[in-house]
Amino acid sequence: MGKNKNKEITINDIQKWERSFTKRKGITQDEETAIKIAVFKLIEEVGEVSKAILEEQWDEVPAEVSDVIVFACKVANLAEKFHKTEKLNNVLQRKMNYCETRKYNAKIKKFDKPKNEKFK
Ligand SMILES: [Mg+2]
Repeated sequence: MGKNKNKEITINDIQKWERSFTKRKGITQDEETAIKIAVFKLIEEVGEVSKAILEEQWDEVPAEVSDVIVFACKVANLAEKFHKTEKLNNVLQRKMNYCETRKYNAKIKKFDKPKNEKFK
């Protein structure tokens, strides 16, 4: 039984793994090439989620969603690397806190937008 059997995977784990994977596989790219490939791959993977659902291949959905998460983390890694942006984990936490403050209007099926400098 592996020691990681029931370990929860965090966003930090995924970002760390992606950076390590890129390094170990010898992928060296300038910023423009790296971001272009990462965003195109992210969009491709979103399409694969869509395709699996359309074709009712539900068993494939979690794997395709995993690909989306990995490439989204890669985009965040590149922003952190080349532009010293805030850590994804911190932004996610703040965004979730902000979502909790929003009220849902069932009539128009939309959330309100409380004033918030970061997420309006
Ligand atoms: Mg895929």
